[in-house]
Amino acid sequence: MTSQKPATPKPSLADSLQYVKGVGPKRALLLEKLGLSTVEEGLALLPHRFEDRSRVQPIGKVTDDEYVTFRATVLNAGTLRLGRRRKVFEVIFEDDTGTLRGKWFQFKESYMKERFALGRHCIVSGKPRPNTYLGAGLEIIHPDVEFTEADAPATLEMGRIVPVYPATEGLHQKSLRTIMKHLVDLYAPLLEEFLPADVMQRNDLVPRVNAYQDAHFPPPGSSADLLHKFRTPQQLRLIFEELFLIQVGLAFKRKHAYREQPGRTLKTRGDLIRRFVKLLQFEYTGAQKRVLGEIMDDLEQARPMHRLLHGDVGSGKTLVALTTLLTAVDNNLQGAMMAPTELLAEQHYLNLLPYCEHLGVKLDLITSALPSAEKKAVQQRIRDGETQIAVGTHALIQKDVGFQDLGLVVIDEQHRFGVLQREAIGKKGLSPHVLIMTATPIPRSLALTLYGDMDVSILDEMPPGRQPIATHSYDAKKRDAAYQMVYEEIQRGRQAYVVCPLIEESETLDLKTAQEVHTDLVARFPDLTIRLIHGKLKKEERQAIMTEFNRGGVDILVATTVIEVGIDVPNATLMLIEHAERFGLAQLHQLRGRVGRGAHASQCLLIAYPPLSDDAAARIEAMLKSGDGFVIAEQDLKIRGPGDFLGTRQAGMPTLRFADLVRDLKLIVSTRKEAFALIDRDPWLKEPNHQPLRDTLHRTLGDRLDLLNIL
Ligand code: ADP
Ligand code: MG
Repeated sequence: MTSQKPATPKPSLADSLQYVKGVGPKRALLLEKLGLSTVEEGLALLPHRFEDRSRVQPIGKVTDDEYVTFRATVLNAGTLRLGRRRKVFEVIFEDDTGTLRGKWFQFKESYMKERFALGRHCIVSGKPRPNTYLGAGLEIIHPDVEFTEADAPATLEMGRIVPVYPATEGLHQKSLRTIMKHLVDLYAPLLEEFLPADVMQRNDLVPRVNAYQDAHFPPPGSSADLLHKFRTPQQLRLIFEELFLIQVGLAFKRKHAYREQPGRTLKTRGDLIRRFVKLLQFEYTGAQKRVLGEIMDDLEQARPMHRLLHGDVGSGKTLVALTTLLTAVDNNLQGAMMAPTELLAEQHYLNLLPYCEHLGVKLDLITSALPSAEKKAVQQRIRDGETQIAVGTHALIQKDVGFQDLGLVVIDEQHRFGVLQREAIGKKGLSPHVLIMTATPIPRSLALTLYGDMDVSILDEMPPGRQPIATHSYDAKKRDAAYQMVYEEIQRGRQAYVVCPLIEESETLDLKTAQEVHTDLVARFPDLTIRLIHGKLKKEERQAIMTEFNRGGVDILVATTVIEVGIDVPNATLMLIEHAERFGLAQLHQLRGRVGRGAHASQCLLIAYPPLSDDAAARIEAMLKSGDGFVIAEQDLKIRGPGDFLGTRQAGMPTLRFADLVRDLKLIVSTRKEAFALIDRDPWLKEPNHQPLRDTLHRTLGDRLDLLNIL
């Protein structure tokens, strides 16, 4: 196929990239790999870094203290052997003023030989260093090389700040740059401005077309430093438009999707709650009172509550959840508590059971592990309204259960469900009040985007008497010393957890597994009672061991992460984590939160097995530095980056092309303010000057944010 003509006579942003000059069917497939099929998507692929080739120097002037660009020819090229196994490919570049060596440690010899044919002209960029091998002259490790005799105009590659795109195999920088240049020249002018004029003015934003053009090909005089920080006016404008659009979507959703659903007005602080409070052996913390105040205000409204509760491990979220569920029961409505896993559902059930029994509230647990007759019976009770509070997994409650009259749902989320999934509960023809809890705090930027359509409550105070948990890390070589600490703690009358990543021995990984550690500890401490608990045990066995541990009859509980959430034994004061390098930061913090729950001082010991990756070292460092879940959450986001943090499970999160949740918190806050004010002024975006905004929202996020039926 040789067709290079646009599919339509008039260029349009919806054109397939295939018909853009320089693309064609083969490259179109490669671009597809980058997620790009239309011209508009192509334009949104911004350079991820830049090379400052605005100053081209002769080799003789090159020094080893800055990034350089020079024109040269290939004088010599070939493979050198360094010892028995190491090889290096070396190219000697030459111009009228001198020579400089380029070195590659990873290469395919035949390909390199062909590429660096003697006498070829090229442009070389990189950061030189003194040549260690020769002891004289300069060398560049893995320099960027562009051969100049190809058809790309030299002006794209030289004498300017050059964009570098996230390339893909088979599609080289130079071709990408050429394609992008065509795109920007021909199509960028078609981009329509959709930001309202007053918003642009207040925020000093440059026009859209100009922003796209210059963000791809920075004009002369641009600051390479600002470009790298994504802080030129052009880049800022693009980040702003992306975040603003999301916030307008969230504001719109919050205004119309939940607020105008019919809900039930509940009577709060009734009889049942009064009896419950009398049962408690303690006072609510100030934060719990404040948060419950926020929740009760919501429940008293005619529209359904839609609130996110986050707070640190041990801050008392369960108590808030139970008080809220009981308020529904007090209004003759059913409550449901949904957990992400069966184990957690079980744990919640066990936590709530003693209170419910005292109060005469009918609590039911529904899990897939129930024998089918029993499961049917539970479902029947839920349908008949006999069950007042049902606890189960998200899937189970949604799939199989019809409630008689569901008034309130608590969702324990653990960072696992996205915007889209949350939607599903409201679609049962009922509009229950919804309270979403996360296991640990979430970073502010995330709360404002992923949960930006909700009201947010924060439990930022621990119950009284909590002591900080002393955290130490041990190299695997010092493992014995760590276990000595465990032994001493038990001699003082306390109990300990030892957590391991896996149950059984793995052939591929050299891991200390729960099974091995259990065997080792039994041999090491014959005088102690040591039990092993993991997810493959039957529910009854698991519960029996837990009950035993609760009563103080077990000294050391060796476990996989089944104990991550929900276990609450105040006499357990030591948490030892084997292979701490393998756990995520939020998970480590969760595990640490299992201790420090009583009057005694607690400790967390992290055993790490080298070699540690940089990220693993950073996670352990963060654990040693802070015990505050809010600080840990921000660190976690920084270490992992937004993509990983959200993970693929967060299906509801719009993809960010320009913005970065770590870098752009300030802009998230300011765009949110603008967006919410705008929706207050013009709730349905009906004003003529908001039409382009409304159209863009519909087209880009309508589906993602589930706005199509209301927008
Ligand atoms: P989270 O779920 O937020 O991690 P929990 O709800 O499990 O925390 O509470 C942790 C522990 O603190 C539990 O033992 C709980 O009984 C106790 N607790 C909760 N609220 C209070 C309070 N106001 N005063 C004293 N202890 C409390
Ligand atoms: Mg909890």
